[in-house]
Amino acid sequence: PKPIISIVGRPNVGKSTLYNRLTRSRDAIVDDRPGVTRDRMVGVGRVGALPYWVVDTGGIESDDEEIHSLMREQVDFALHDSDAVIFIVDGRDGATPVDFDIAKLLRQSPKISVYLAVNKAEGLDRAMIAADFYQLGLDQPTIISGKNGDGVVRLMNRVLEET
Ligand code: GDP
Ligand code: MG
Repeated sequence: PKPIISIVGRPNVGKSTLYNRLTRSRDAIVDDRPGVTRDRMVGVGRVGALPYWVVDTGGIESDDEEIHSLMREQVDFALHDSDAVIFIVDGRDGATPVDFDIAKLLRQSPKISVYLAVNKAEGLDRAMIAADFYQLGLDQPTIISGKNGDGVVRLMNRVLEET
């Protein structure tokens, strides 16, 4: 059976962009407007010859009041129905309060591997990023750009090596 890899993260960090790159599709709507509800997307990605399921959990984009309960729902789905989770954050914003909340939820399930991906990292200082996101108390981050593809193969090799 193909491993199931879920992508979680707050709105606008680049989940759908990464999903589309991994599945070589344009199935997931990429949009920088908040508050647009989208369906959960499932597609097939590949590393070498090895296929995996990839899930864009981000149908759950909402305004500030709803974000916490919806994030919890997103994270619960990922933790119960996946073999590994990619937690994606925005390197330009740094670690935000919602990122800390998601990290806390993810840390409560030690059975599932969580891979931290710092996105939108084009031109950013790697040492600064590592220092900032280290505070989330997770794995060593993999620095990526979903937009131009930098680091994405490295991220997926890392995820699938251990899954
Ligand atoms: P989602 O809400 O987490 O699914 O985020 P989207 O994939 O819809 O992306 C939100 C916005 O960020 C869009 O305008 C994307 O084009 C942009 N974006 C996504 N990945 C990157 C990246 O690696 N670099 C930059 N500069 N922008 C990105
Ligand atoms: Mg999305």
